[in-house]
Parts: sequence; C-alpha cells; structure tokens
Amino acid sequence: MTKRVGVIGGGQLARMMIAPAIELGVQIRVLAEQDGMSAQLAQTAVGDYRDLDTVRAFARDVDVVTFDHEHVPQEVLRALVADGVAVHPGPDALQFAQDKLVMRQKLADVGAPQPDWAGVQTRDELQAFIDDHSGRAVVKTPRGGYDGKGVRVIAEASEADDWFEAFAGEPILVEELVRFRRELAQQVARRPSGEMVPYPVVETVQQDGVCAEVFAPAPNLGERAVELAARIGTQIADGLGVTGMLAVELFETTDERLLVNELAMRPHNSGHWTQDGAVTSQFEQHLRAVLDLPLGSADALTDATCMINILGGPEGVDIDERFAVAMEAHPGAKIHTYGKASRPGRKVGHVNVTSDDIADAAYVARAAATYFD
Ligand code: ADP
Repeated sequence: MTKRVGVIGGGQLARMMIAPAIELGVQIRVLAEQDGMSAQLAQTAVGDYRDLDTVRAFARDVDVVTFDHEHVPQEVLRALVADGVAVHPGPDALQFAQDKLVMRQKLADVGAPQPDWAGVQTRDELQAFIDDHSGRAVVKTPRGGYDGKGVRVIAEASEADDWFEAFAGEPILVEELVRFRRELAQQVARRPSGEMVPYPVVETVQQDGVCAEVFAPAPNLGERAVELAARIGTQIADGLGVTGMLAVELFETTDERLLVNELAMRPHNSGHWTQDGAVTSQFEQHLRAVLDLPLGSADALTDATCMINILGGPEGVDIDERFAVAMEAHPGAKIHTYGKASRPGRKVGHVNVTSDDIADAAYVARAAATYFD
C-alpha cells in the first residue's frame, strides 16, 4: 500500500515535499487554510487546523501527520495521539517550538548553550533584567512570532508595556542582547526509532528579520565549531524527542561561542540549499524521518552552495516572466518557484547555486536573484 503523509499547512514547505514524495513513492495530502498553491499538486483538504473535528477527519485517511508550520494547538495534537494517530513531531516535542519560554526552560534542562534569559511578568522585573545586562535586552513574545515579528530590542522596560497588556499577566521572554559575529543554522533529522543524521552547519544572513541568504557549509568555521554545532543539534533532537527535521538557529558570538537562538521542527529556510547541494534534501529527509524509514546521507555534493530567497517586488510584476529571464541568463542556477502571487516582501521562490567556491556560488546566485528586484 502506498503510504500517505498528511501535511498540515499548505505553504511552500508542504509544496516542496511533493517532488521527493513522488520519488519515494509516497503520497502527500495537505490540510490547507485556503485553496492555495499545493492544491494543483497534491490532494488538498481545506479547513481550519485549530478545529479538532477537521483535523481528525483529515488524519483518518493518512498514515502519519506532519506539518508545514508549528501552529496546530496542543489540544488538537494530543487528541490525535490519543486516537492512535502517528504525529511527527509529536506534541511533547512540538511544544518546545511553539513557545519560546518553554523552549528556553527545556534547553536549560538539557544543558544546551543559550543566551541569559528570564520569564518576566512585570515592568519592574524586566527593568531589573535590563539593568543587569548593560542597559539593553531583547524581549520576545513567547508565542506567535515569526520573521522577526514579536522580537524587540529595548533599553527601557516601558517599551514592552503593550506586550504585558496583550499577554495579560502571562510572562514574556527577555534575553541578553547577544553580540554575535553571524548567525548559523544546524539541521538534524531524527526518526522515531532514534537514528539521527546531522547536516553540515550553514551560515544564514537575515535582512529585516527575514532570511535572505544561506552559505553552506558555513565558510571559515573551524573544525571544532563545526563538530560542536552538530553535537548541539543532536543533543537537542534527542533530548527533546524531535521526529522529522529539526533546525537549530545559532549565534556565533564575537567571543566564539555558539548559543541557541531558536528551534524549528519541520523543513526550514536554512535548509533549502539541500535540494541541489546535498545527497538527501531536507524535504526528502523529513518524509523519510516521519515515516520511520532509514535516513539518507546529509553530505554536501560540492564544496559550496549559496541559497538566496526571492522576495516579491513591486505589485504587478509578472513573476513568471522574471523566472524565465533569470533562467535564461543563468542556466547554472537552480531557480525554485512557489507558485505564489507576488507581493512586496513575500517569499515567492529561491535560487540555489553550487560551486567549488562560495564566493563564486554567491556571485551567480545574487546575479540571478537581481532579476526579481
Ligand atoms: P523569529 O521567531 O521571528 O524568527 P527570532 O527569535 O529568531 O525571531 O529573532 C529574530 C532575529 O532577531 C534573530 O535572527 C536575530 O537576528 C535577532 N535576535 C533574536 N534574539 C536575539 C538576542 N538574544 N540577541 C541579539 N539578537 C537577537
């Protein structure tokens, strides 16, 4: 019987699982909020992922449930598990990617290196943390943040008054302002039987809170730091019981430490390079992992891969036309499109370029990406 993987969420991550699913001989079914981009490519149910009856009905027809985002409520996930549905990652692991305070506490328990942090409930507590950390700090909403929304650098506790009000007595997260040289990301695949495969650690470049570029493997990173990143990744995947793909976002500090920023338990933008630059792409690996199939090699195919996100430009741009022009100009660039309408700042695709030299890969990838500005 062909195995069926149910993906909750109909964004580009679900969409990019479809090609490897065909190669693996498994079927993807999607539960999407609206009849969106996966609908032309995989059997898609439209419904609300917060509604238990909807999710239950969807889960009935698949062998395993997994995700394109982390927003499915814990109550819904736990009800599925109680029904006997295979859910990967399961609610016990996923809670650590859903709530940054719960994550910080768990990372402390497993001994992963992280910035100083605290859960604060009042302006006074927050001000005391800021005063203890040279007058500045980063406040974060524990839930609901993405692409830098829900993250604020502050010098005065009053700058977070609106969040204290919105979170009505619940603690919000405050962290030391980390002085970092750059940001890295370590991915690890883990299957229910416990097998783990770490990917090469990569460098990520964020612009306005959104991932702009990825260099794989991270250039100029010493052997020990590479090993340490992989060890932190596997320690977290194992310690938190993650199944599927885990991404650990890291800071490389100016004094050469690696500190965990945050976690994602699904394929991640920092791993899009693997589609063209690694033996097993993160999307194939995620499917293998959630189906508890043997994992593939995560080795890089070449010395260097550069991934650049394509963000939507001005309204009215014919994105398909741009894709065609960029493809013609750069036949060596792998240009991926998500089939989305272009809106300013919206992720509509990405470019991967492999080379034996990262500067060369970045040069070609940037040149191809400029066709979308
Ligand atoms: P999101 O969930 O929106 O991706 P993150 O927690 O990853 O939010 O934070 C977004 C960005 O803010 C990070 O990529 C980093 O550049 C910056 N940032 C987050 N936490 C800190 C910190 N403690 N110190 C310094 N910069 C930070």
